[in-house]
Amino acid sequence: MIQVANLVKRFGDTTVLDGIDLAIDQGEIIVVIGPSGTGKSTLLRCLNFLERPDAGQLTIGDLDVDVTRASRADILAARRRTAFVFQNYALFANKTALENIAEGLIVVNRWPQAKAHARAREILSRIGLADKADAYPASLSGGQQQRVGIGRAMAAQAEVILFDEPTSSLDPEWVEEVLALMKQLAAERQTMLVVTHEMGFARDVADRVVFMEGGRIVEQGPPSQLFNAPRDPRTRDFLRKVL
Ligand code: ADP
Ligand code: MG
Repeated sequence: MIQVANLVKRFGDTTVLDGIDLAIDQGEIIVVIGPSGTGKSTLLRCLNFLERPDAGQLTIGDLDVDVTRASRADILAARRRTAFVFQNYALFANKTALENIAEGLIVVNRWPQAKAHARAREILSRIGLADKADAYPASLSGGQQQRVGIGRAMAAQAEVILFDEPTSSLDPEWVEEVLALMKQLAAERQTMLVVTHEMGFARDVADRVVFMEGGRIVEQGPPSQLFNAPRDPRTRDFLRKVL
């Protein structure tokens, strides 16, 4: 359903993504792990053109583009098919939880406000925050703010949700509730590409774990294989440090 072929991204003279090939099936949960500075965020950001890749072919549903030739319309199409959950939530501080979730539906999907707000209320129930519709981000806990961030991604009904270290900014006490919501989405077979250091989540939830280092995919496989019998010494070395 999603296919990336030979994705390359450079910043100046530094090649940050050095020919990434990755195919994601509908309903698949992929967790990306690897040392910091290895290109994990850049990979996610290239998939919805938050960064402009230098080479590669990107297929998402019926969109199929050479990324170097992507038109404005292609980029918007890629963004509609991918929703992003940021490490720092990236909520609008001057909008309520309900408005944060509805905003994309109004601005991107051009839904009338009443319809967007009705959908946002449904989402708030699903993320367990029905009573926080009118709360501003500053009055919510970190865990609640990130659940709103995930709710906003759910509202978009994108083909895939891209999570970039969604629990890394959270105080430890809020991590579980965010992981629980992500597990709920995984159980509903929402296609997800998740960059995380939560190895327990990877082990329990991922269909496939991808280990990246130096802008390349070094090794990938089901969690049982990757965690219990990694083949590449770089994977073994990384896992020894984090497990
Ligand atoms: P990861 O998410 O795996 O920690 P990143 O994708 O954030 O890694 O970064 C990979 C490399 O690209 C790092 O060396 C980082 O410094 C560099 N990088 C990321 N974004 C930019 C940018 N906008 N300009 C220049 N260098 C960048
Ligand atoms: Mg990162």
